[in-house]
Amino acid sequence: MINIVLFGPPGSGKGTQAQHLIEKYNLKQISTGDLFRFNMKNETELGKMAKSYIDQGHLVPDQVTTDMLIEELRKTTDTEGFIFDGYPRTTNQTEALEKIVKDQLDAEITVCLSLVVDDEVLVQRLLKRGETSGRTDDSNEEIIRNRIKEYYLKTAEVAELYKQQGKYVEVNGVGEIDEISAKLFAEVDKVK
Ligand code: AMP
Repeated sequence: MINIVLFGPPGSGKGTQAQHLIEKYNLKQISTGDLFRFNMKNETELGKMAKSYIDQGHLVPDQVTTDMLIEELRKTTDTEGFIFDGYPRTTNQTEALEKIVKDQLDAEITVCLSLVVDDEVLVQRLLKRGETSGRTDDSNEEIIRNRIKEYYLKTAEVAELYKQQGKYVEVNGVGEIDEISAKLFAEVDKVK
């Protein structure tokens, strides 16, 4: 089983690269951002609660996010592994994920792949996406900058934890999409 944590600030191309990794290694993706957006669209209780945080560019509380992830993992069968996209973002979530993967899948996190993109490139990419995606959190530069700031504040510690385990790999996230994918594949092939 291959379990990849795909890591990177908002706008770093996580979603696109996850798609390529899924096809290459027959994985299923779990994106907590997508799950929240699905819940908001359907106006579930979870969605309504999450919206107040997401619209401000803040993280949704750990417990709610982790419960949602566990539920999604339970529902997902028939796969050779998972890509975790947008989770974990805190130390608490990192520890929770290790336990969940062990208990539910009898497996481990294989590698944490981190896409590295300069802040100003991220802001421009997200503003552009906001013009067409309709995502409220992509439409305002201040909210975007806040999300990037939150990323560095709260998730640097996640990178640190994977570094300590020797599982953290940085890949340059600027360039041709297929070239970035090739670099990610090479890193997975080293450890799978
Ligand atoms: P994303 O699409 O991954 O950028 O997520 C969009 C928003 O959903 C984030 O800015 C957070 O408000 C929320 N979110 C997604 N994943 C998490 C997570 N693991 N922990 C807390 N909040 C999250």
